[in-house]
Amino acid sequence: MTDCIFCKIVAGDIPSARVYEDEDFVVFLDIRPVNPGHLLIVPRAHHQFLHEVPDKVLQRELVLVGRLVRALIEAIGMKDYNILNNNGSDSGQEVPHHHVHIIPRTSEDGFRLNIPHSSYKEGYAEVIAGQIRSKMGT
Ligand code: 5GP
Ligand code: ZN
Repeated sequence: MTDCIFCKIVAGDIPSARVYEDEDFVVFLDIRPVNPGHLLIVPRAHHQFLHEVPDKVLQRELVLVGRLVRALIEAIGMKDYNILNNNGSDSGQEVPHHHVHIIPRTSEDGFRLNIPHSSYKEGYAEVIAGQIRSKMGT
């Protein structure tokens, strides 16, 4: 995609602080980090949503997240962290090219997921669970 900032970073047209790359991924520091070491794992191929990314790439992505987390623990002494992936503008996705954040956390960083919990009306949880099960073939 010609006007996608992450495609431009992947292509090397915009500079980034790269920490890893292979045939499927480029990994670099987020330019506006929650804390130092905040990483973005970006597949080279442009897809906006996680569900559009091929299974083979998604499998490799999670293994890569694990490797990068271990590197952050050893390299900068990261302790607690969030793995974050936003999908669509309603979720807070700013850059519409699928990516995963690894966010090192501290007690003072002010980052809040602020999940507003609701509840199910009587019987509705079973309806929803059944609808999902039928699509999963289970
Ligand atoms: P999103 O909200 O889409 O999940 O997160 C996008 C992230 O990309 C943000 O945390 C933002 O700081 C980061 N970002 C946006 N533009 C650039 C850029 O040009 N370079 C780098 N390294 N990060 C960027
Ligand atoms: Zn892109």
